[in-house]
Amino acid sequence: EKKDLILSVNNIEVIYDHVILVLKGVSLNVPRRGIVAILGANGAGKTTTLKAVSNLLHAERGEVTKGSIEFEGERIERLSPNDLVRRGCIQVLEGRHCFGHLTIEENLLTGAFTRKDGSAAIKADMEKVYNYFPRLRERRSAMAGYTSGGEQQMCAIGRALMSKPKMILLDEPSMGLAPQIVEEIFEIVQDLNAKEGVSFLLAEQNTNMALRYATYGYILETGRVVMDGEAKMLRENEDVKEFYLGIS
Ligand code: ATP
Repeated sequence: EKKDLILSVNNIEVIYDHVILVLKGVSLNVPRRGIVAILGANGAGKTTTLKAVSNLLHAERGEVTKGSIEFEGERIERLSPNDLVRRGCIQVLEGRHCFGHLTIEENLLTGAFTRKDGSAAIKADMEKVYNYFPRLRERRSAMAGYTSGGEQQMCAIGRALMSKPKMILLDEPSMGLAPQIVEEIFEIVQDLNAKEGVSFLLAEQNTNMALRYATYGYILETGRVVMDGEAKMLRENEDVKEFYLGIS
C-alpha cells in the first residue's frame, strides 16, 4: 500500500553534465519506520540515488531527467534540500561531514538551523542525542576535527537528528571505520529506528553489516537495481554470498 511508504522512488534516471547517464531507471521504496539498504560496488550509483532524493545533485552538475520521487505521498523533486529538511528528510553525506573547527556541541547546534521551536526544545533534543551517543557527550567540547573517525560519524548523525527528521539518508556510515565502531553505529541506528521511529535509507558497500540491520535491500549495478528483497533472503542468496559477501 502506497500510503505506508515514507519514500518512493519511481524509475528515476540521473544524468551528469548533460551526457553521463548514471542511473538508468531506479525504483525503490522505504516503508514507514523502515531501514532499507542500497548495496553495490564502488561507482554503482548509491550516492547518486541518495543525492537525487535529497536534491543535492545540482552542485555536481547532475539532474534527475526521468521518473518521480515521493516523500510521504508528495512529489519532492522540486523542493530545495532545506525544504526537505523542514519536511523531515535529511541526508548525512559520505565522509562524515562535520565542521572541523567547531566543537561537537556546536556542530550539533548547527543541525537545528531549520527549527523554529525555542532553545529549550533544542537543548532537550541535544540531551537526547547525547543519550543515544554517550561518546558525543564525553567529547562535547572537543573540536570535531580532532575527534576520531567514529566520533565524527556519530557527530554527523547527531547533527542530522537535531533537525527532528522522519527519515535519514545515510551514505556509507561504515567507510574507513573499524568493525566494532561500525557495529556500535549500526546498533544506535537500530535504536533510533525502534524508539524514535526514524526511517533510514542507507547506502553501504559493507553488505554484510548492512544486511544485519536493514530489513530490506536493493542491489545496484551500474545504475540499475539488479536484485531486491528482504534482508534475510539476500543474506542467503547464493549470488549475493558469492559477489557481495565474499562467501561461496
Ligand atoms: P561510491 O561508493 O564511490 O560513492 P556509488 O555507488 O555511491 O559509489 P556514485 O558515487 O553514485 O556511486 O557514482 C556512480 C557513477 O557516477 C560513477 O560511475 C561515477 O563515476 C559517476 N559520477 C559520480 N559523480 C559524478 C559527477 N559529478 N560527474 C560525472 N560522473 C559522476
